[in-house]
Amino acid sequence: MRKKIVAGNWKMNNDSAQTEVLIAELLAKKPENTIAKIVIAPSFINLQAAVEQTHGTSIIVAAQNMHQAESGAYTGEVSVGMLKSINVNTVILGHSERRAYFGETNALLAQKVNTALAHNLTIIFCFGEELADRQSGNHFAVVESQLKEGLFHISESEWGSVVLAYEPVWAIGTGETASPEQAQEMHAFIRTLLRNNIGNKIAEETSILYGGSVKPDNANEIFSKPDVDGGLIGGASLKANDFLEIVNGI
Ligand code: PGA
Repeated sequence: MRKKIVAGNWKMNNDSAQTEVLIAELLAKKPENTIAKIVIAPSFINLQAAVEQTHGTSIIVAAQNMHQAESGAYTGEVSVGMLKSINVNTVILGHSERRAYFGETNALLAQKVNTALAHNLTIIFCFGEELADRQSGNHFAVVESQLKEGLFHISESEWGSVVLAYEPVWAIGTGETASPEQAQEMHAFIRTLLRNNIGNKIAEETSILYGGSVKPDNANEIFSKPDVDGGLIGGASLKANDFLEIVNGI
């Protein structure tokens, strides 16, 4: 059975005190649902404290990004070794904001994927089309090339460390959600791509999350679709009650 996962991408929100409070609230309220794995991705600067605060709980702490190089003269960047040294073993790669504002291309993401996998990190690999792609009917082709160019080169055994997150850019932070049918249609397409390019086993076992304006009142319906295995949540992950309600919707 595929893992159900709900991940909160906190983006550039929450200073250290706010991070501590939000984690404390998540730990105090606890989801009723114990099927879903819960991931939170605070900012780099708060990762170490988050790891310590969640120690011994089932909450997994992830980074929002990392550099592809092992170390060196890359001012302002964070390496995979630095993440591992504070027990962060999961990283979000390829988020649309990284692609759009920081010039991350499929080729660069392929390098980041390789570095992460070489160090046994779990990757939440994000991809998704822009509004113009959907309007012109190119959304399937865009998603296919994002996956083929950024990810499909990895070996079969490495797929166990990969979670996919389909996030249509037009639905991120806009309040506009893909309909459950649109999400299911794309997730089924992605699973078929996996089946045809990698193999049936990987296609069946890889979790595919949906992201883009998931809220407590729409999570349940989106998560009920057969190829949607959870969500990557931005805005609604910043409030403990909303996030846990979404977790409970799985
Ligand atoms: P959103 O963000 O839930 O605020 O739309 C999702 C994401 O960017 O991962």
